[in-house]
Amino acid sequence: MSQGTLFIISAPSGAGKTSLVRELIENLDGIQVSVSHTTRARREGEVNGVNYHFTNIADFEAMIEHGEFFEHAKVFDNYYGTSRCAAQTVLDAGQDVILEIDWQGAQQVREQMPSAVSIFILPPSRSELERRLSSRGTDEHAVIARRMRDAVSEMSHFDEYDYLVINDDFTTALQALQSLVISRRLTRESMQVRHAPLLDALLSQAPSVE
Ligand code: GDP
Ligand code: ADP
Ligand code: 5GP
Repeated sequence: MSQGTLFIISAPSGAGKTSLVRELIENLDGIQVSVSHTTRARREGEVNGVNYHFTNIADFEAMIEHGEFFEHAKVFDNYYGTSRCAAQTVLDAGQDVILEIDWQGAQQVREQMPSAVSIFILPPSRSELERRLSSRGTDEHAVIARRMRDAVSEMSHFDEYDYLVINDDFTTALQALQSLVISRRLTRESMQVRHAPLLDALLSQAPSVE
């Protein structure tokens, strides 16, 4: 069974990663998003088990104790983490997986899985980032101010990533992300595993039947 590729996607809050990833998996087969655990409060419209597995601090800390996380980090005073089984079951089924995680989690994943492909999404400007955070309408003013303060430190880690995508025009950014996933599937290594029978047949010494 071929293993899928693990894609790490990071961005400052409000840069558009959730919207881009949602469209990406609607347009492409064979790719899924890993659903993270978090202790942050559920936003209106978010569904437990779909957007996140919402949990409390005690349960999250018990999961850390039991080694259940592939990676975890504190972001904006809340815990966020990817459980081992969330990512591994999808990869083992040969599907690609996207982790929408922060730079701290990205570092932990790269150490354990050097073949992971990491992508950082940048907003076109700081003012547009603030506008998107405000117009999304999901967070209080103080929460937005906190996220804007942390945006620069998150973005300062851009040089740890394999690819940078600027989310100015949404469709252009989506096409860039899609191209990255597709080109990864076309590497010789990946094609050799997935198309072994074709390569065997093409290279076989037996005379072909005309
Ligand atoms: P949003 O990014 O504005 O939608 O806000 P969220 O509260 O949903 O997420 C805040 C940040 O936490 C995101 O920008 C992600 O980088 C990060 N995050 C989400 N899930 C995970 C996770 O499972 N692990 C880690 N390390 N970070 C996560
Ligand atoms: P993140 O998951 O990175 O916090 P979201 O996907 O929630 O970001 O996007 C933040 C807000 O910006 C949402 O209201 C979204 O609809 C909007 N948005 C995303 N991409 C663009 C874009 N290219 N142009 C304008 N608005 C965008
Ligand atoms: P809302 O959260 O109200 O749906 O959108 C907030 C802002 O982001 C709006 O100004 C809207 O035009 C913009 N926006 C939301 N989704 C998209 C998208 O998919 N593409 C683009 N280009 N803009 C979007």
